[in-house]
Amino acid sequence: MALTSGLGGQLSIDLGALARNWRALDKVSAGALTGAVVKADAYGTGITMASKALHAAGARFFFTATVDEGMAVRAAVPDAHIFILNGLYPGAANLYVRQNLMPVLSSMAMLEEWLAKCLERNEAYPSAFHFDTGMNRLGFRLNEASIVRDRVQSLGYAPQMIMSHLACADQPNHEKNRTQLALFGSVMTQFPGVPASLANSAGLMTGRDYHFQMVRPGIALYGGRAVNGRKNPMAPVVTLHVPILQIKEARTGESVGYGASHALSRDSRLAVLGHGYADGFLRSLSASNTRPGGKVVIRGKVCPVIGKVSMDQVTVDITELGHDIPNPGEGAEVLGNVLDVDDQGDAAGTIGYEILTSLKGRYNRNYIGDGNLPPG
Ligand SMILES: *Cc1c(COP(=O)(O)O)cnc(C)c1O
Repeated sequence: MALTSGLGGQLSIDLGALARNWRALDKVSAGALTGAVVKADAYGTGITMASKALHAAGARFFFTATVDEGMAVRAAVPDAHIFILNGLYPGAANLYVRQNLMPVLSSMAMLEEWLAKCLERNEAYPSAFHFDTGMNRLGFRLNEASIVRDRVQSLGYAPQMIMSHLACADQPNHEKNRTQLALFGSVMTQFPGVPASLANSAGLMTGRDYHFQMVRPGIALYGGRAVNGRKNPMAPVVTLHVPILQIKEARTGESVGYGASHALSRDSRLAVLGHGYADGFLRSLSASNTRPGGKVVIRGKVCPVIGKVSMDQVTVDITELGHDIPNPGEGAEVLGNVLDVDDQGDAAGTIGYEILTSLKGRYNRNYIGDGNLPPG
């Protein structure tokens, strides 16, 4: 594959795979509505294109972190129901109302500000309530549940949904999952008849007990691994090829890269790629003589990183390709069928989520398909 764009790499996003992943998850959670989490630019894939494709696949409920992201979904999908997971930003209630965005309220201050807006306009603007069942991230504390209930009951207001978030769903046998499930059940009894939502991608895969009325998958839509220690059933969505800039020969004992932290243990052939940490190839993918780093695929073979990852370049060892020497301008595969976002995440000491959300900037992006699938 020759790369011709003036930008660094070629990032391809398969909207058909995204749509099929949503459909597959919707089947698993049959009986519950299947939302779509599109925060952080739809995990790096592009919030506008991803939201349209997810809508074409059947998604109607979207979750973003920020108001700006919610507005991007509103522009892409006019009939979307949009929840803002970060809640209500102080002073921003008018913006939510104008854009028909639903804040996920998680504190008494947020609740009172939203209710004040409702009273001022004499409109029960929709919202969701987030209860913290043990993560100590956003959410009302559990002992606030009855206070919240009494407060909204006194006004005749009801939320569209109550929700909580699992801390350890990527480990299905972790006892905290059961604990949070039970605590969420106790909150639900305070809001009879109100739809409930607990599961992210991993929770969705953990079992029906976690589905309730709405599931909120994110990472699995984009092909990432949700549950650890199991084969990932999702289709890959993102492919990334980056250009080879230069091929060179180097001798045993010579060092490669900043800090001269990696000395060659044999005469080697190296390829310098136009791809660095500024492009999302994390610096923690650097290699040294004591620690292996990231890998890329060139001419079908896995080639290891040599030395430190720079801002705009990284060097890989292509000695094993023998006489099959690639040409400058040819692509090296960073993400694709051989190495996926979780392989790169594992190599970098992080998670596939961070690999995806780091894919910013210097790419020529192309989208494959549009999310329209045969009915089914
Ligand atoms: C990000 C997020 C999700 C989606 O999580 P995944 O692990 O990507 O499926 C669901 N709910 C909340 C509250 C989130 O913050």
